[in-house]
Amino acid sequence: MLLMIWLVEVVFFDSIYQKMKSDAIMKTGDEIVSNIDKRNVDKLIEKASRDNDFCITVTDLAGNLIYSGDYYGSCKDNVKLNDFIIRTNEALASNKSIVKIKERNEPYISDISLINSKDFSFKQKLRVIKEISYTGIAEKDEFSYVVMLDTRLTPLQATARIITKLLLIATLVMGIIALFIGYIISRKIARPILEISRQADCLAKGSYEMKNQAGGYLEIRQLSSSLNEAAEKLSQVEHLRNELIANVSHDLKTPLTMINGYAEMMRDFPDEDHQESLQIILDETKQLTLLVNDMLDLSRLKSGTLSLNMTQFDLTALLNSVIDRIKALPAANGYEIEIIAKETVQVKGDELKLSQVLYNLIINAINYTGSDKKVKICQSVQNNKVRIEISDSGKGIAPEELNTIWERYYRTNTDHVRSVVGSGIGLSIVKQILELHHAKFGVESKLDQGSTFWFELDIIDNH
Ligand code: ADP
Repeated sequence: MLLMIWLVEVVFFDSIYQKMKSDAIMKTGDEIVSNIDKRNVDKLIEKASRDNDFCITVTDLAGNLIYSGDYYGSCKDNVKLNDFIIRTNEALASNKSIVKIKERNEPYISDISLINSKDFSFKQKLRVIKEISYTGIAEKDEFSYVVMLDTRLTPLQATARIITKLLLIATLVMGIIALFIGYIISRKIARPILEISRQADCLAKGSYEMKNQAGGYLEIRQLSSSLNEAAEKLSQVEHLRNELIANVSHDLKTPLTMINGYAEMMRDFPDEDHQESLQIILDETKQLTLLVNDMLDLSRLKSGTLSLNMTQFDLTALLNSVIDRIKALPAANGYEIEIIAKETVQVKGDELKLSQVLYNLIINAINYTGSDKKVKICQSVQNNKVRIEISDSGKGIAPEELNTIWERYYRTNTDHVRSVVGSGIGLSIVKQILELHHAKFGVESKLDQGSTFWFELDIIDNH
């Protein structure tokens, strides 16, 4: 901005001033020319002379004066005959009006030296004066007027020097203010950003210790808190990953030890009846297969490579068939599964995946239900939505664990006795499938009173 002001005020000052003056003289001259036969032209001439300090002379083609405007009495002499002829001819030749700038040398006194009290001696010099002139021809009723406007361009060097000085002071003051503002802005913006980027670097290196940025602008504070959140999530992921490795290796190790033990026993005592041992080996391999399949399913669901096969089907029938399948499992022996479903409902979704959801939730309810060995399944309809609730009477889930149980491989306690098969990632599969269906789901649980897992789907109305 300062540079712009310098350029306009100092470098282009003269030419801008000259241009403005030529435009003004041209405009005024043209106005007089077009109003020359009006009654109030003398007023117009006087006003133009007063407002712009123009010397105005209007004559006929022979040079006889008709009007003149010299408001400040600064017009020294009449236009000389020679000049008059040249200017009139030029104006006639060039479309009836012409503006010209010419330079003239004018003597002026530069020094007065006092030799003694009565004598003066003057030193005279010449200075260049720029004059600007307008000549226009007005033709009205076969009579021609010559309109001449003259003014001088005031020498601006002295003014320019003052402006330069003022500008210098302004530049210095503004420079100091700019430095001060710059310092404050850098404190408020740049420093917190540098600090955040340092913390982000630490995050990249694996250190999740973050400091919340209190100062700075709102956006910076938001950035800082987002980074904090990211750090928290990352450290959670890190924690879950460690837990996953520990749990998976534990779950792999137990069946493998069993298989290994029974196989060794069968090798060392070949004569004994090994039916039971073989069954254990088969059961354990089944458990391993289940674990591996579930993990594969989950990773496919998570990565989005497993797409849904959406069809319209009878959810109530599916619920009944899943319950029948579970009842047939030897491990579900002795458990009572009660179902309440007043009507049959049609929904749209992936039937196989939703049967997996039901299977996982019911198996969990059997796994964790209390000593009464009861599981209740309730299907209700409201507002065009069907809600499935699966309740058990077990120990329930602590409120602080209600969110974490949906995470992959989370267990509320690691020493629970498994009555029915389970891989430890059932609920994360349930969550992924229900999210893909855009279904609402959740769990309500009270300690020592049991838990209720539920989800809701849109009903397809056939009528
Ligand atoms: P798991 O094979 O361990 O059951 P899930 O992913 O199905 O794996 O469940 C995760 C955890 O959620 C379980 O380990 C258990 O702590 C808790 N949980 C799931 N269902 C119930 C339930 N009905 N009652 C109490 N806790 C449950």
